[in-house]
Parts: sequence; structure tokens; C-alpha cells
Amino acid sequence: MTDKGNNGVDEMQVDVYTHEQRKKGSIPEGFNADYLKLYYAKLFPHVEIFKWMSYGNDGKHPARDTSYFGRREFSFTLDNDVYLRFQSFNSAAELENSIKEKCPFKIDIGPVYSVDPAKRHAYAQAGDNVFKPVERELVFDIDMSDYDDVRYCCSGADVCLSCWPLMTIAIKVIDFTLREDFGFNHILWVYSGRRGVHCWVCDGRARRLNNEQRAAIADYFRVYKGNENSHRKVSLAGPAMHPFISRSYADVLKLFFEEKLLCGQELLSTEERFQMILDMIPDESISGQLQERWKASWRPSMSKEDINIVRWGQLKHILQSGKQKAPVLRRCVEEIVFTYTYPRLDMEVTKHMNHLLKAPFCVHPKTGRVCVPIDPEHCEDFDPTSVPSLAELLEELNMAGSSNADSGWEGTSLAKSVSFFKSSFLQPLLKSCKVEMESKYNDAKIQEMKNSMSW
Ligand SMILES: [Zn+2]
Repeated sequence: MTDKGNNGVDEMQVDVYTHEQRKKGSIPEGFNADYLKLYYAKLFPHVEIFKWMSYGNDGKHPARDTSYFGRREFSFTLDNDVYLRFQSFNSAAELENSIKEKCPFKIDIGPVYSVDPAKRHAYAQAGDNVFKPVERELVFDIDMSDYDDVRYCCSGADVCLSCWPLMTIAIKVIDFTLREDFGFNHILWVYSGRRGVHCWVCDGRARRLNNEQRAAIADYFRVYKGNENSHRKVSLAGPAMHPFISRSYADVLKLFFEEKLLCGQELLSTEERFQMILDMIPDESISGQLQERWKASWRPSMSKEDINIVRWGQLKHILQSGKQKAPVLRRCVEEIVFTYTYPRLDMEVTKHMNHLLKAPFCVHPKTGRVCVPIDPEHCEDFDPTSVPSLAELLEELNMAGSSNADSGWEGTSLAKSVSFFKSSFLQPLLKSCKVEMESKYNDAKIQEMKNSMSW
């Protein structure tokens, strides 16, 4: 280690890594303030987060809004559960210094307000009731614990590779729809560090949506209109499915259901499980017929196929055969697939501008894993169990430390995530911010000219 004395971090390393651990070459897994202090000092991409949250307003363009970044709310959850809301910063250095000093266990990002959120009381006292959110990314929060009735491998906050495809489905369906149907381009997906994913839609048009418009977009994704107690949670009745619904089904849901979840979750392997699916068939004679067969464990004598696939084939055959004319029965297969796969959104998060959402690159206190971005184009390759943990990163930093103490994230397995964030998300976003700023500036100039001519 060099003796740079970077906020006392180098001295601290000696405490964190005992000689025993160094010899073994492993830092114990875990999450604590000492680990986190090092992470914020050496690895957290402060500058990139600042660049993102500035949306080009930190540059030199004459049309920039110099107060923009300073009106953004950050909130910190500290070690002792102290919750600091309405933090605001005027520069990259202020943000970075505050994070390093306070060492928050969690950083949340809120909206951009009409005035500096840290000074909101002063404005309220001045009598102008102007403190209100004016911009906010359109966000989505998908949590695996909302899928507990359709997964059998884990429950609650636990996830594994058998149930993670549910998140992959959510990313694919939502990402494609936001791009194709809403025309958004700057979309960031982030692993929440434990049991789900977050989505940040950052196009200017998305950031300026009001609550009503956000609610309308959230509603667009809502397929679950049935009541919670009904086994048929999805109703796709009607002559034709909405193009968005049928496209999601054909491109994503059906494939993942049949190739991943059916066997991965063993959805038809036991009586308790197949009964849940049979209860969704609105014709008792058909469900009774299948139930009888499955209880007797009937299967084609030569078949070595997985029992779940055999039974799903039987169900589809009987519901979709030429004899079944009722559309409600044909549609039932699709309803089952939707029930077991369709994204379950926390609508409240999406609908309200002032909802806080955890910042990317935070570390989850329970898992010690970094909230890294997920590439939606390759989201099926994302493995939550191999996301770098705080201890692993510090170990890598330690190894690199002997040759280059200031390597930062570049020498660690976080490099891939930060590079992806920069090249695939941040650079194209800032480019479009510049274009938007340029056209705003030109429009203003033209308007100015028109005004002066009309005199
Ligand atoms: Zn699982």
C-alpha cells in the first residue's frame, strides 16, 4: 500500500485485512462500515453517477440549467438506520465527499424539485408554496417476492437460478414495450442486489411525465384485472388480444414458460401443483378428465419425457383441439402462461414522481452484492449469484494494490459493469441530452427573433 493517506483509508486497510487473511488471500464475505468506506473511496463510480444525474447540465452549453443537479433529492440510510432525506449537492465533488464522509448503507435517488430540496423550508416560510417535484425518471420496480405463488424453489427475499428467469421475462417484456410502444431509448436496468430488478427510463420525455401520465403507462402493463382470490388471475377474454399482449406472449412468455419454468419449477409434477393449474380451466369436465389422468400418473408408455412436459402437452391438446370451439377454453392456455410468467410490477413506484429508488452501484446490506446494471439485450445471461460482492471486490483491490494502489474499479470485476454503464447507457444518453439542449436553444433564439421582428 502506498502512503497516500486518502481519507485515512490506507491506514484502515491494515485493520480490515489482518495478516492471517492476507496469507489466505481471502477477505471474509460480509457487509460492514469498514468495507463500505473502502468501496466508496476506491470503487463507487461517483463521477459517472453525477454525469448521469446532470443530464448534460454540468457542461458549458449556454442553454444548460445550472441549478439542475442541485435540485435533485438524494437520500441516505446510515449505519444506525438514521434516514437522511432531501440531501442535495451542487457539484460532483460535494456529492462524492458527502458519500465518503457519511458512508450511507443505502443511497436513494428521488426527483428533481422546483427548488433545492435542502432549502425547502426556507421557501415554505417565504410563503411561496413552490416546492414540488418537476422531473423524475420513469421507474419500475420488480420484486421476486411478488411471485411467491408461482415459484416453488424459494420464497420471500430468496432467489436462485430456477426462479430468476421470472426477472428475465420481466426485463424482456417491459424493455421491448418501452422501446417499441412508447419510443423510449435511454433505459437502464439494475439488479436490486437481492431479489429483483429496477428500471430507469431516462429520456427527457419520460422524466417530464406527470403522475397521471405515469399511471397511464403503468396501466398499460396491467394484465391482472381479476380479483386476488380468484384462481384465474388473468382474463384475456375478448375477440383478440391487444397487440402488446399477444406479442409478449408469442415472443417471451410462452418460450420461457415451456423451456424454463415448466420443468425448472416442476409446475405439474405434484397434485397440489397441478391442481392450481386445473382450477384455472373454466370447464369442469375437462379439468376433471385431466385430473383423473394425472392422479393415475397416466403417460404414454414409451415416453421418457419429463412429466411436466407430458402433462402440459396433454392440457394443451385437450384445450386447443379442434373440438373445443369455445374461445374461453382456447384462451385458457394463454391465461395459465400469463399467470405464471407475466411481470408483476409495484405500480405505486411507477405512478408517483416523488418515489425514491435505490441508486445503481449501491451495495445490498443483506447480500453484500453490488447493484450492477443488467444489459437487457443479454439479460438471459445475467446470473444474480455471480454478481461481485463487496468482499470479492476488496480482495481484488487488495491484490491490485501491491502494483497500483489507485487502480480503482478498473482493476476489479466491477469494471465490466461500470464500462457497460458508461458506454451503453451514459454516453448515448448524454449525446441525446446535448441534441435536446441544442434544439431548445435554437428554438428560443428563433422565438426571440420573431418577437423582435413583430415589434
Ligand atoms: Zn428460486
